Amino acid sequence: MPPKLYIETVGCQMNVLDSELVVGSLRRQGYELTHELDNADVIFFNTCSVRQHAEDKIYSALGRLRSHKRRHPGTIIGVLGCMAQKDQELVRRRAPHVDIVCGTGQLARLPELIAQVRQTGRPQFALSLDRKEASRHDVERSFESYDPLRDPSMRPNRFQAYVRIMIGCDKFCTYCIVPQVRGPEQSRHPDVITAEARQLADEGCKEVTLLGQTVNSYKYDLGDGRRSRLSDLLAKLHDTPGIERIKFITNFPRDMSDDLLDAVRELPKVCPYLHVPVQSGCNEVLKRMKRLYTVEYYRDMLVRCRERVPGVSISSDFIVGFSGESEPSFQRSCDLVAESGFKNSYIFKYSPRPGTKGHELYPDDVPEEIKKRRNNDLLAIQNKVSLQDHLGRVGQVVEVLVEGPSKTFLKANGQQQTGKSALSQLTGRTRTDHIVVFEGNQRLIGQTVQMVIHEATAFTLFGGVVTMEKIHQPNFDDAAVSPPQAEVALSARVSLPVI
Ligand code: SAM
Ligand code: SF4
Repeated sequence: MPPKLYIETVGCQMNVLDSELVVGSLRRQGYELTHELDNADVIFFNTCSVRQHAEDKIYSALGRLRSHKRRHPGTIIGVLGCMAQKDQELVRRRAPHVDIVCGTGQLARLPELIAQVRQTGRPQFALSLDRKEASRHDVERSFESYDPLRDPSMRPNRFQAYVRIMIGCDKFCTYCIVPQVRGPEQSRHPDVITAEARQLADEGCKEVTLLGQTVNSYKYDLGDGRRSRLSDLLAKLHDTPGIERIKFITNFPRDMSDDLLDAVRELPKVCPYLHVPVQSGCNEVLKRMKRLYTVEYYRDMLVRCRERVPGVSISSDFIVGFSGESEPSFQRSCDLVAESGFKNSYIFKYSPRPGTKGHELYPDDVPEEIKKRRNNDLLAIQNKVSLQDHLGRVGQVVEVLVEGPSKTFLKANGQQQTGKSALSQLTGRTRTDHIVVFEGNQRLIGQTVQMVIHEATAFTLFGGVVTMEKIHQPNFDDAAVSPPQAEVALSARVSLPVI
């Protein structure tokens, strides 16, 4: 019987990609993926350290596994990723039954670590160097970009994929643990990235999302005095046959250069969607966060994005309750959201992270209750802005890449696929990253279709597939084609709840 791997992933898209690659590499070693923890030979948790809550979730899961390990001593338990890199000793102290602790920069070693646990019966650690403990060169070398061969069966679908274009971060925002746990910023060679995109396209991938902590800081020195920027990389990727859409996340406001915006405007496959976190609308808070820009700079950047890329949609991140955030400074974040026209914002309560400058220098002085209230208040303002943005799209015809049955449909009908021709509630995304829910045949999954939007909430657009309907006009050319019309059978208002 092939050995079985169970893996749980917490955190960002980078972690989702890492898990996909870990599963792919263990499959090549003969492992099968299982969704049942009880019959797994290897149990991995791919972890996140950005907020305390994410770590707490992993420690409770590990706690629940203590008795499982007593009952199944042969099962190997591994903690991977950011928390492993940050707290290797703490993990072993709090969960001595863990066999493998493997940081973000060492994932390629997992097959070897499993073999060593089996051989020696002793726990194995694989970690990159601490940024303060060695030269930049040595630390860089200890954080390896983990990008083995892709395996389409590992992704939720074969037509969308993440592609890492860089690892690490050098910005050191004072609240953020990422520069410690993901190491120095290092961009991958453009040829390696384009080769990966070609392979993905050959396997049926239509949409790639390029990943980097500050993806628009991407730069690769080609060695002959030339440098490849993100705009150059986008132009190169644009030539990949089969790839229809290129997205990239997450952008740093100061690095939103004009050449990049021009590339987004000029290259038809590059989607007009920019995720550019601002974090706060207050200059004093931004300064304490060491974000390297003012709110005036950010506002100007928004104007520049919209001028250079007409129709672009923009989303953001905010942290509420950072040290020293007074009511008036919070109000400035509310004002920014109210006027910004953001498609959506991800809003987080500040979570102090030991190991960051913010934790060292500033008290966590906004009470939890106030953080919670500010989170809700800011979200309520963003929801109104999102609704306005969505209502403005009603009546428009948009291009949607159909992703699959909606969550609501799956909940009501179970995970099982119901025949390709079955009518179901489907979900997809526009080129501006808006979610569209509609009724259609499952054979549309993976296809790019034109859709007319006829209803909107703050979270979702509702639409119907547009058909090029051939009409019979006896007195005219028989091949005449009517203007796009919403397919009547499918365009009825979808009355199921919003996903
Ligand atoms: N590199 C991206 C950037 O600079 O915008 C974001 C990376 S971070 C993993 C994703 C989001 O988590 C950040 O934009 C920020 O809003 C939030 N975040 C990071 N550290 C946090 C902390 N200590 N407490 C609360 N939210 C945090
Ligand atoms: Fe963290 Fe700032 Fe780097 Fe984003 S830019 S990963 S928030 S340090």
